[in-house]
Amino acid sequence: MTWEAVIGLEVHVQLNTASKIFSGSATRFGAAANSQASLIDLGMPGTLPVVNAAAIRAALRFGLGIEAEIAERSVFARKNYFYPDLPKGYQISQMEEPIVGAGHLDIEGPEGSKRVRIIRAHLEEDAGKSLHTDFAGMTGIDLNRAGTPLLEIVSAPDLASAQEAVAYLRAIHGLIRYLDISDGNMAEGSMRCDCNVSVRHPGEELGTRCEIKNVNSFKFVEKAIQYEIQRQIDLLEDGGKVRQETRLYDAERNETRSMRSKEEANDYRYFPDPDLLPVHITAAMLADERARLPELPTAKKQRFMADYGLIAYDAAILVASRELADYFEAAVRASAGQAKPCANWIMGEVLAHLNREEMEITHCPVSPQQLGDLIRRIQDGTISGKIAKQLFSALWSGEGQDVDALIDSRGLRQESDAGLISALVDAVIADHPDNVAAYRSGKDKLFGFFVGEVMKRSRGKANPAQVNALLKEKLAPG
Ligand code: ADP
Ligand code: MG
Repeated sequence: MTWEAVIGLEVHVQLNTASKIFSGSATRFGAAANSQASLIDLGMPGTLPVVNAAAIRAALRFGLGIEAEIAERSVFARKNYFYPDLPKGYQISQMEEPIVGAGHLDIEGPEGSKRVRIIRAHLEEDAGKSLHTDFAGMTGIDLNRAGTPLLEIVSAPDLASAQEAVAYLRAIHGLIRYLDISDGNMAEGSMRCDCNVSVRHPGEELGTRCEIKNVNSFKFVEKAIQYEIQRQIDLLEDGGKVRQETRLYDAERNETRSMRSKEEANDYRYFPDPDLLPVHITAAMLADERARLPELPTAKKQRFMADYGLIAYDAAILVASRELADYFEAAVRASAGQAKPCANWIMGEVLAHLNREEMEITHCPVSPQQLGDLIRRIQDGTISGKIAKQLFSALWSGEGQDVDALIDSRGLRQESDAGLISALVDAVIADHPDNVAAYRSGKDKLFGFFVGEVMKRSRGKANPAQVNALLKEKLAPG
C-alpha cells in the first residue's frame, strides 16, 4: 500500500532589532557571555518589560509579506515552565491572540509551484543558552540570548515531502531577508525549525505526528524528515503505532530519537501577561510598513517569468536572494538583454564556483558587467562557449579585468575564416582514412571524434558551428 507524508513546520526567526524585545540590552551575536543581559532579561523582581516597537514592525512586515490577516489587537501571554536558561520561570509569547493570522507563501517545490498555508506567526522572546562545555562537569548559563525577539511562523500541514519542506524553508529564508527582518543565519541560530511529521494512506485522516525539535540546517531538515517518514512507515507496516512525541535529530547517526512523549509534555498554563498592554496596530502603521516593502520574491519571480521568459524553476532560483536577483538583472543589462544565457550562466558556472568556495554572491569576483561582456562575445561569435568558460575562470581568479583585453592578450578570438577551417577539416580527413571509411559505412558516433580533432588543431578556437557544417558536408559518402 502506498503512503503519503504530511509535514508542517514551526520556524523560529530571530528578528534583527538592535535591542531585545522587552529590554534595552543589545542582541549582537557572539558577545562575551552574560555581557548583554539586563535586570529585565534576568527576571529580577520589580522590573517591567517594555515592548520594542521595532519587533512589532518586523512582525507586521512579515504579515504583509505573506498576505496575512494582521490582528488589530494582539496580546502577550506567559508560557510557564522551569528551565535554568529561563530565569523568570516563564517565556513571554503569544497564544490566543497572535499578531499575524492566516496567510500563505508560494513555493517552487519538486512537484512544481504550490501554495503553502501559514496558520499564524507570533512574537515571543528567546531563552538563554546552557553551555555544557569548558566547566569541568558543570553547566554554565549565558543569558545574552534571553529576550532576543523571535517570530514563530507556523505552517499548515501542507507539505508532502522532505524536499518540499526544504523548499518552503528556503522560501521563508528568502522572504525574511528581502523584508530585512532577520539575517536568517541558521548556523548562528537566527533561524531554527521544528518539523512535524506524520504519514497516512492517501485519502485517510491525518495520522499521529511526531515533532522533531530545533533542526538547524537545510540539509538536516531534509535528512531528519526523510528518516522520520521512513521510521513511521516501517513502524506502521510492522503493525505498530506512532506515539505522539517530541524527537531529536542526531546528525552524526542520521536518526531521530525520542525526547519526551505527549504524556510527559508540559502544561504551560498560558495566561495574558499582566505586565504588558495589548498591542494595537493602527491603519497608519500598516500603511507605513506597506509603503516601505521592497519587491518581494513572489512578485519578482512573476516579473522574471514575464519580462525575461524564464521558466518558474529558474526564476525561483534567481530570486532566492535579493542580491542574486540584482546580479542577474545587472548581467542581463550588460549583455544587452540576453536573459536566458545569463540565467544559465548564473545557475551553472557562477553558482557552481560560489558553492565550491562557499562564497556568497555579494563576494563574487566576476562582476555582472564582466559576465554580461562575456555573454555578448559568445553571442557575436568572438569566442566559443568553451573558451568562455576558460575566460570565466580567469576572471574569477583575477587574471584579468576586461573581457575583450583578455580575449586579445590570450589570442582566443574564435576562428571563423571559412577557408582556414576548411583546410583543417581536410587535413583531419586526410590523416584518418580508416575512421573516415568506418564513419561512411555507418559508424555515426565517430562524428564527435572528427569534431574533436579539428577543434584540437585549432587550439579550441574554430567556430564549432562551422566545423560541424563542414565536416557533415565533407564526410558525406560519395
Ligand atoms: P500544537 O498546538 O501542539 O503546537 P499545532 O496544531 O499548532 O499543534 O500544530 C503545530 C504544527 O504541527 C503545525 O505546523 C501543523 O501544521 C503541524 N501538524 C499538525 N498536525 C499534523 C499532522 N497530523 N502531521 C503533520 N504535521 C501536523
Ligand atoms: Mg506549537
